[in-house]
Amino acid sequence: MISVKSKAELEKMRRAGIIAGNALHFGGQSIRDGMTTFELDRIIHDYIVKNGAKPSFLGYGGFPGSACISINEQVIHGIPSKKVRIREGDIVSIDVGAYIDGFHGDTAFTFPVGKISDEAKKLLKVTEESLYLGIEQATAGNRIGDIGHAVEEYCVSYGFGVVKKYIGHGVGRALHESPEVPNYGKAGHGSRLVAGMTIAIEPMINASGEDVRVLPNGWTVVTRSGSLSAHFEHTVAITPDGPVILTKPTL
Ligand code: MG
Repeated sequence: MISVKSKAELEKMRRAGIIAGNALHFGGQSIRDGMTTFELDRIIHDYIVKNGAKPSFLGYGGFPGSACISINEQVIHGIPSKKVRIREGDIVSIDVGAYIDGFHGDTAFTFPVGKISDEAKKLLKVTEESLYLGIEQATAGNRIGDIGHAVEEYCVSYGFGVVKKYIGHGVGRALHESPEVPNYGKAGHGSRLVAGMTIAIEPMINASGEDVRVLPNGWTVVTRSGSLSAHFEHTVAITPDGPVILTKPTL
């Protein structure tokens, strides 16, 4: 069942969303050449906790970190580690969830570390732009397929691969709710969007090919081709006045 949130519930979700957005932004600003992903995870964890929230991902399905930190060919679900160092030239995808007062906010961004390749720059730009094209379609009366169609069409026009195995989702009292929000689809198809729905739109885009595989750690998803991958995500409320991004940072 798709849950529709009241105005008061949307206000709570905005609070969770801002903490998640700010934790993500603060984490991104903290990235330094040579830092471990464990250190970066601690910074994000501490920010969330200091602001009275709980990291949504910590312990979720047994996940050991507070943020997912996925470098270069890692698509999503990178596990923070003392053995993994971030280096100049890397692209670092950080996915953060914050839970407060009964609701979750979920957001992701791929950060460039220092000077990155032109190919990486283009992948980041196109993936972020595709997120906003998807958000534009998140209006009452539209359908889920309109979002995925907008994301897919744009990314494919650049020759990039749209990951299909992992998708966006409803978000609210649970981190993952109905409906599913794929980054592909047919315009005019799928569930109807109504005001009060809150969804996480999250394109995961590979520089080459859509295929992915999971590393032996059981979590980390990487591109099958070894190409770079980018991930951008916002929690969005569908309102009578159009889509409202709940995870915009205020820092
Ligand atoms: Mg998500």
